[in-house]
Amino acid sequence: MSTSTEVQTLVLDHVGLLAVYPINDDAIVSYLTPCCRASAKGSGDGVVCRACYVTVDERLGMGWMASDDEAWRSWGKRWLDAEPISNWAMVAKMVGAAKRAAVSA
Ligand SMILES: [Zn+2]
Repeated sequence: MSTSTEVQTLVLDHVGLLAVYPINDDAIVSYLTPCCRASAKGSGDGVVCRACYVTVDERLGMGWMASDDEAWRSWGKRWLDAEPISNWAMVAKMVGAAKRAAVSA
């Protein structure tokens, strides 16, 4: 368990830069925006950067709890789906490393 609220970056995947924010006994895994490295949030026009309000890829608005195994599995699957088969071993390794880092954050 960590009481730190520091953002720790995990991995650059097919969508963007994934990071983890420790919170209480768990942690929130979500993307940082390419413009400000801030979190993204929903708005009337879609998903925007929380810092500068520019519209970003709506997938950057996704997030899940570090303890949510099912969310990790579906994230890994989406990433594999976006990559050629020749990259799958590398992606699987990065998915596992990101999950371990997030869970221990
Ligand atoms: Zn921004």
